[in-house]
Amino acid sequence: MIIRTAEILCVGTEILLGDIVNTNAAYLSRELASLGISQYRQSVIGDNSERLTQTIKDCLNNCDLLIMTGGLGPTYDDITKETAAKVIGRSLYEDAEVLAHIHRYFKKRGRHMTDNNRKQANVIEGSIVLKNICGTAPGVFCEADGKVIILLPGPPSEMMPMWQNEAKPLVAKYCDKVLVSRNINLIGIGESALAEKLGDMMEKATNPTIAPYCKTGEVRLRVTASADTRERALAMCLDTVEDIKATEVGKYIYGYDTTLEEAVVNTLRRKNKILSTAESCTGGLIAKMITDVPGASDVFFGGVNSYHNIIKNKVLGVSSRSLDKYGAVSHQVAVKMAEGVQALMNSDISVAVTGIAGPGGGTEEKPVGLVYIAICHNGKTTVKKYKFGHTLSREKIRELTAVNALTDVLEAIK
Ligand code: ATP
Repeated sequence: MIIRTAEILCVGTEILLGDIVNTNAAYLSRELASLGISQYRQSVIGDNSERLTQTIKDCLNNCDLLIMTGGLGPTYDDITKETAAKVIGRSLYEDAEVLAHIHRYFKKRGRHMTDNNRKQANVIEGSIVLKNICGTAPGVFCEADGKVIILLPGPPSEMMPMWQNEAKPLVAKYCDKVLVSRNINLIGIGESALAEKLGDMMEKATNPTIAPYCKTGEVRLRVTASADTRERALAMCLDTVEDIKATEVGKYIYGYDTTLEEAVVNTLRRKNKILSTAESCTGGLIAKMITDVPGASDVFFGGVNSYHNIIKNKVLGVSSRSLDKYGAVSHQVAVKMAEGVQALMNSDISVAVTGIAGPGGGTEEKPVGLVYIAICHNGKTTVKKYKFGHTLSREKIRELTAVNALTDVLEAIK
């Protein structure tokens, strides 16, 4: 049989209650995509036998491969294995090797093995046992009635190595296609404008597909191709990337499979320029984003976190007169901050931000969301005024400020 479609079914009332985030589904989704297996639906079910039975039946009707995570533990509410076995009409038996592994696991840690731990040594008849090197509950790989069912433990630290080492190599034997994706990074164009300009092309594209993803302040286009080999899929992706580059959105592209901060660091390096920052409302977020990129010290010596006016004045040299006359959030102060930090750090380019992140502090004249971003470069200082909207959260305004500051830096040097 060939596996073309899969469903992920995560078991656990904790997920439904929002106590834990379903990172298992996100991880497995990426893995399935890399194997070229399509997913049309994912589910989460609490620890309830009836609902679980119904959902397993439903999933098996809809896909070639069902991957379940969670509920393989030793307690009464861990019912995944028993329920799955019942649905496919198989019995459980105690596997001597698994039992020995569980004994060794407890002995090695000097812990007492309780009777209910023994339950974990039960496996589904006719299945392949997936070893758990990081815990006690084994996984299951089972082919039944032309479908494959995989049971993995809930804890990601156990699930991920079991998937990589045990389950994925088995699944790969059932696959005939690989999926390859390339991301195109764009700034200066919104998602709706992009859809307008590329809509037709995106709609018609089936292989490769073209899908837009919005991030704060930027848009990504993900081009995904499916083919028999990785090389072929990659070539198809690159052809489509070239086609997109040749359209009118080409001028908004700042990189491929990158992040804004990586693009800034790489461009600074290429242009042999040193950046410095003076931040007020972002409190160091811009410097943090830049230094998230390994090797950023080649192009970034540092910044001044000039949150208080005292620092704007004493460290950056913004005059008390300017601060009093125009206010900390003003065109004039942004200019002086950028020029001050450039002089202090002896950098080639500097960026300064000052704004009102809220929720308090806004006035009619200077509402929450008002931000000035200044760039000092080649002896010239330019300022842009942004109004991000007073309804946005403090976090969002700060994030938008940092992303736009990095965008302005990139625009200035590219
Ligand atoms: P155990 O043997 O530890 O009982 P289990 O297979 O029974 O494992 P669960 O009891 O369902 O798994 O979950 C154990 C823990 O694993 C959860 O408390 C949670 O921390 C983590 N976990 C479970 N499911 C997920 C999921 N879908 N995404 C992320 N983490 C999860």
